[in-house]
Amino acid sequence: MMNVVLLGAPGAGKGTQAATLTKQLGVAHVASGDLFRRALSEQTELGLLAKSYMEKGELVPDEVTIDMVLERIRQPDCAAGVLFDGFPRTLSQAKALDERLAGEGKTIDKAIYIEVPEEALVKRLSGRWICRDCQTPYHEVSSPPKVPGRCDVCGGELYQRADDTEETVRERLKVFFSQTLPIIDYYENQGKLLRVDGDRDIDEVSSSISRLLQTERA
Ligand code: ADP
Ligand code: ADP
Ligand code: ZN
Repeated sequence: MMNVVLLGAPGAGKGTQAATLTKQLGVAHVASGDLFRRALSEQTELGLLAKSYMEKGELVPDEVTIDMVLERIRQPDCAAGVLFDGFPRTLSQAKALDERLAGEGKTIDKAIYIEVPEEALVKRLSGRWICRDCQTPYHEVSSPPKVPGRCDVCGGELYQRADDTEETVRERLKVFFSQTLPIIDYYENQGKLLRVDGDRDIDEVSSSISRLLQTERA
């Protein structure tokens, strides 16, 4: 049973690493951005509310975000542990998550911070393609799909996110440095933070993360 938070700027590789890591840990993958995008495509009230924030690259307000994620982790697939991706992104989200877990006798075991320099992030996001069906990320240069436009995992159609334009990306990075960086200290002060150099090949980053988690668990 492990609850792990994946931290990193937009484009750091959270979604990419989550795919292998959830399998290794045997936990559910809970990505707040994916939950918002699903709500948006289903045109639910939540989706319509989130839309205006996402388009501008701003954070969706804490209250709705917290409710959505805490609701999601009630599902039975989360009983064996969760890999949180893109949540928490603010101190109040981190604290709300801790409170909920504490109420169930659980805790966040580790927070993994994938560090990548800003210029690399912009390049990654401008070449990112995502599967419409299973959300697997690809990159037109660094990790292209085997068949152009099609997902290797499920055959789904690949698309580029409307918020992956340079202008919105710059705004999202600003938001990350001002609103999300403080939670790095929050986990560091709890002795839970593991830092990983994310500016390397996908496989090298994966093995570093596995090694770090193994050392910590041993
Ligand atoms: P995040 O979930 O943190 O926003 P993603 O996992 O979606 O990031 O990755 C952003 C983009 O960068 C995607 O196009 C992905 O294929 C690519 N990418 C991920 N990890 C690496 C890496 N280690 N090296 C080069 N490109 C990467
Ligand atoms: P990335 O990791 O590429 O930045 P995400 O898919 O995690 O993107 O998030 C996309 C957008 O969804 C964010 O820019 C924001 O508007 C919204 N969002 C996702 N997670 C959160 C969160 N925890 N708090 C507030 N807004 C969020
Ligand atoms: Zn797919």
